Amino acid sequence: MNAPTPNLKSHYDKLFIDGAWVTPSAGQEDVLNPATEEAVGSAPVGSPEDTARAIAAARRAFDDGPWREEDRNVRADRMQKLFDLVKARREEAVGLMQLEMGFTRLNCDMQLGLLFGQLERTIEVARKDPLKPLAPMIADRLGGGGRAFGSAVVTRDPVGVVSAITPYNSGFLLGLVKAFPAIAAGNSVVLKPSPFTPLQSMLIAEMMAELDLPPGVFNVVTGGLEVGQMLSADPAIDMVSFTGSDAVGAMVMAQASPTLKKVQLELGGKSPVIIRHDADLELAVAVALFGSMFQAGQGCSLTTRILVDNKIRPAFVEALAGAAGQIKVGDPYDPATFMGPLIREAARTRTEDFCRRALEDGARLVAGGSRTKGLDKGFYFDVTIFDGVSNDSHLGQREVFGPIAAVIGFDTDAEAIKIANASDYGLGGGIISQDKATAFEMALKMRTGQIAINGGTGGFHPDMPFGGYKRSGLGREWGEEGYNEFTEIKAIGFPAG
Ligand code: NAD
Repeated sequence: MNAPTPNLKSHYDKLFIDGAWVTPSAGQEDVLNPATEEAVGSAPVGSPEDTARAIAAARRAFDDGPWREEDRNVRADRMQKLFDLVKARREEAVGLMQLEMGFTRLNCDMQLGLLFGQLERTIEVARKDPLKPLAPMIADRLGGGGRAFGSAVVTRDPVGVVSAITPYNSGFLLGLVKAFPAIAAGNSVVLKPSPFTPLQSMLIAEMMAELDLPPGVFNVVTGGLEVGQMLSADPAIDMVSFTGSDAVGAMVMAQASPTLKKVQLELGGKSPVIIRHDADLELAVAVALFGSMFQAGQGCSLTTRILVDNKIRPAFVEALAGAAGQIKVGDPYDPATFMGPLIREAARTRTEDFCRRALEDGARLVAGGSRTKGLDKGFYFDVTIFDGVSNDSHLGQREVFGPIAAVIGFDTDAEAIKIANASDYGLGGGIISQDKATAFEMALKMRTGQIAINGGTGGFHPDMPFGGYKRSGLGREWGEEGYNEFTEIKAIGFPAG
């Protein structure tokens, strides 16, 4: 194992609530490195009492109003300062991401690249005047009685108190993707990270503490189920911004429903990439492999269903299996490594179970399928590829969140679209073809939130909204659309007569 970032702070014993570092009432817990299975840090564990305190502080901060009533350019200047701090402390962020998630440097750099583009764009959006005048018009007077002249403006208000609940695979990225625009728009935030990755949120809190925000505008509470339940059910919270699995997303929605609060859900996926007969084979293999094995398969919009035209499928699968054999799995600190570990043993057992069921369902294993040999410590699993997967099988339908790609054959473009859309999810997608016009027409027919033509899984433009159809969620993050999710729309009319 190579060395992690030197002098990295990985022990925290206080939560950040109401503008101060406070001792948690539930004590502390070790933080595990999934690459070594060793305790590499410690973090405070938030309790229901801590959570109640954070919610009350956020409520008071919003209701008292100094932050939401602040000029939007003053708020944007403060967010610029936060962005500068994020850039200045980039190496610490990378260090904690590697420590808690077992990510390679490439994985961390790609997440941070996305993040920086977003923060920059959010500051620009936050400076824009939300006031939009509607064109004056002459309309029929309500209730009859002739015609009247009237006008109106539409503006945006912050939603209020926002709880931000994040998953384990992007604690730093998503903690900021939620808290940054929410605070820029004038809201107060309570952030809860995954219990597997609390340290990245502690780093966010340290940066927020340097901003001199009014107390209570930003708070972090760690913890699991109980804290998450409070953050989605409490009537003092106006909006839950949740990222995680669809199963927990459904619980969050149910927990939030008695109070009818706004719910934003960014959930899982089983995203398809369609490889047409005219695809550049080398590009198709690179996109398929990178798009399914990035972060050891622990990415929400990874294209884990690889739909390939049967005319080129044998050649494609042979090339894909060959390329898979070149991938180095292991120590995430080694620059030659492409794939680090899974987060915990349970994730590895689940991945094994998917392999077993895929074989039972008649799929053909062409690469991997087992734990990585020679690595006794760390939750490693080989790059795994199945060919001849049926789209309606367990592997064709369910999210693995591990390094398994499913190759599914098709004969016509129409059939490819049909298979792509035959999923409970609708998050990402891709098309590989040299015929860009046809690829674009196919993209229009796909029922997913983002689609990349000839590469990647989206996210290359800072104003591309991110989110999914169907069981992949509700609402959008990123860019202007994402910023607007943290606002309420207000219309003020000037009816004449
Ligand atoms: P998870 O659903 O297990 O947990 C997510 C968060 O919810 C954690 O902080 C957890 O403590 C909390 N939680 C658990 N039970 C809760 C409850 N009843 N009420 C409120 N909060 C509760 O997800 P995970 O395993 O940490 O992350 C992986 C999942 O996240 C995958 O499904 C992945 O696709 C998804 N994800 C989606 C996106 C996206 O933007 N769409 C991004 C990253 C990850």
